[in-house]
Amino acid sequence: QSLTDDVDPGAATMPLPQSDERRWSDTSAYARKKILQSWIQLPNGNWELGKILSTSGEESVVSLPEGKVMKVISETLVPANPDILDGVDDLMQLSYLNEPSVLYNLNYRYNQDMIYTKAGPVLVAVNPFKEVPLYGNRYIEAYRKKSNDSPHVYAIADTAIREMIRDEVNQSIIISGESGAGKTETAKIAMQYLAALGGGSGIEYEILKTNPILEAFGNAKTLRNDNSSRFGKLIEIHFSESGKISGAQVQTCKCKQSHCFTVVQCAEGERSYHIFYQLCAGASSSLRGMVKEAKSDKHLQYKYLGQSNCYSINGVDDAERFHAVKEALDIVHVSKEDQESVFAMLAAVLWLGNVSFIIIDNENHVEPVADESLSTVAKLIGCNINELKLSLSKRNMRVGKDTIVQKLTLPQAIDARDALAKSIFSCLFDWLVEQINKSLAVGKRRTGRSISILDIYGFESFDKNSFEQFCINYANERLQQHFNRHLFKLEQEEYIQDGIDWTRVDFEDNQDCLSLFEKKPLGLLSLLDEESTFPNGTDLTLANKLKQHLHSNSCFRGDREKLFTVVHYAGEVTYETTGFLEKNRDLLHLDSIQLLSSCSCHLPQAFASSMLIQSEKPVVGPLYKAGGADSQRLSVATKFKGQLFQLMQRLGNTTPHFIRCIKPNNVQSPGLYEQGLVLQQLRCCGVLEVVRISRSGFPTRVSHQKFARRYGFLLVENIADKDPLSVSVAILHQFNILPEMYQVGYTKLFFRTGQIGVLEDTRNRT
Ligand code: ATP
Ligand code: MG
Repeated sequence: QSLTDDVDPGAATMPLPQSDERRWSDTSAYARKKILQSWIQLPNGNWELGKILSTSGEESVVSLPEGKVMKVISETLVPANPDILDGVDDLMQLSYLNEPSVLYNLNYRYNQDMIYTKAGPVLVAVNPFKEVPLYGNRYIEAYRKKSNDSPHVYAIADTAIREMIRDEVNQSIIISGESGAGKTETAKIAMQYLAALGGGSGIEYEILKTNPILEAFGNAKTLRNDNSSRFGKLIEIHFSESGKISGAQVQTCKCKQSHCFTVVQCAEGERSYHIFYQLCAGASSSLRGMVKEAKSDKHLQYKYLGQSNCYSINGVDDAERFHAVKEALDIVHVSKEDQESVFAMLAAVLWLGNVSFIIIDNENHVEPVADESLSTVAKLIGCNINELKLSLSKRNMRVGKDTIVQKLTLPQAIDARDALAKSIFSCLFDWLVEQINKSLAVGKRRTGRSISILDIYGFESFDKNSFEQFCINYANERLQQHFNRHLFKLEQEEYIQDGIDWTRVDFEDNQDCLSLFEKKPLGLLSLLDEESTFPNGTDLTLANKLKQHLHSNSCFRGDREKLFTVVHYAGEVTYETTGFLEKNRDLLHLDSIQLLSSCSCHLPQAFASSMLIQSEKPVVGPLYKAGGADSQRLSVATKFKGQLFQLMQRLGNTTPHFIRCIKPNNVQSPGLYEQGLVLQQLRCCGVLEVVRISRSGFPTRVSHQKFARRYGFLLVENIADKDPLSVSVAILHQFNILPEMYQVGYTKLFFRTGQIGVLEDTRNRT
């Protein structure tokens, strides 16, 4: 007898009411069957395993570990799985698939350093925050030979390779999760496996070396993660016919606002991009004169780096990392000369932050102080010091056909200075990605021979949510749709295989929420862009506009003043429109472009032309008329959407493999597993939903044999000589199960929720 034979076959797959807090609690099982072990929710929200001692009326008496006895409302009890299912490596194997059981199972495994668990088709990875002995050549070999079959990133990468070769279809590994959950590490582990199996040409080293470069320029220490990626990344690795890696391409997706913000401002305890500290700690002698050391014990500091009182990261040697980055740059063929230019640009950004201003007239106009900072910036980027001074004290504005010159006040000048610093850094990042892509360029590319790895920021919901969360959550909504549709396809295949009419299966989709964002002209993005073009638009007029046009949308709710709420697949998020317009209007600073193009160094020139090219993309509607900004360009949100669509398009033609990373605590500490935090992420990244989605429609499936064996004896007619299929059909008829409640497949019966319970009741009474 199999393990699950003595429990309700429906229980394992019972879908549960979705919206309520215990959406996975299949308490109805109690009504049918006596269950002794049960989950009891304590006042602090955590679940404890208890034994039911007695039940009378609506109340049960339960005993908890350590001899405690409690009276609880029977309805709040959630069935626990038999001990023998402790730590199963696929959550689908659990007889009772409720939240506490899933939490317990992951915790049980986590305590034994088994950080990977399957949830049906998805791999769940719980961040260990310490080195776990699961990686390296010995493990790679074991997964390659299939002598180890426990869930692992290697196993996912292995499947991807095999399916790519077998089906000649491009594959993708899609990694998501909160900040600090382990996405970037997981992506590297997957790359390691692909490099080991597809290595040989040498290009695999180059691919692996893109990581230290992109992390140095794109990651920063935040309060949530010492190595937080401030951009999304897709790396597409190409294979030759013989299965060897032939090249790769990196595509980034950054919400420019949050990406570059980090350069000019960071909060207490956080840092700017690693590369700045690495440069200060490890600059070569030729740069030394231009770079000050930024150590906390030195009074000579860069203002941009000094504002957060945090210079170092525990256990990280910035100077050592700097050498690793230089080495990596060598490997991806960035010449020594270009490297020097890159570092000069970084130094220029830092010195820009030190440029200060003095008031020059009685209208509070300012100009930069002609000190060492200003002259060093000019020297580093190779421009005339007077031109630099001008561009930081005046603004050219186009009004119709005329250009007017406006003198700047202190806040405006600081904005102009920071904007220049951000532009230089942003362009530098893009330029590096371009160099990497040149170096990794694939010769002749064959379709059906690539594996893409996507490492992208997960769903975010804070107390206060702004434009950045708005963009990020929109991206996640798109990814979720990709995820849903893929699962739907898998399901569909199972139905078709069994000859089931799958058009009768309803699947949850998040199309409504996506339409809320994307619909034209009355969607969140369109309305945001429209309001951004109005010179008189404010954050409040934006909020009002959204409420006016979207109030009847079921995924939208207008709240007081500047607040509005979006019902995302992962939960409701309330956004505050403060700063939305400003952040969305990506002002093109013509003065910056002019300045950079006048520079004698080649990088600033390249930056200027790439900024111009970007601004030449088609613009919808007249952006920024009189009095507004300097030029017409795409809004930030629209650009972000464009990047996202490109990404999705690439993913669209691939067979996806999903990895969901989970952060077990907020203090980056090993061994600490906080139930509430894990649960919230399981809900957000849809792990609990996965099984539900893949089991919606006709969730209970029983083979004809098993069904006939289990219920055959209830039949009044003689069935001795009948085959399992006929017996099954006879049972269905005898018990008047409505035809829309089940489907008969070639090998299995498919039931709607709860149907099997009716039969179980009868069986138990007999
Ligand atoms: P963000 O969204 O902020 O970029 P992330 O999801 O990419 O976050 P990572 O930077 O990958 O998070 O992981 C954070 C930290 O967790 C790592 O620096 C590392 O210390 C630890 N970590 C993650 N995965 C593993 C692992 N498999 N083994 C050991 N440590 C890990
Ligand atoms: Mg990351």
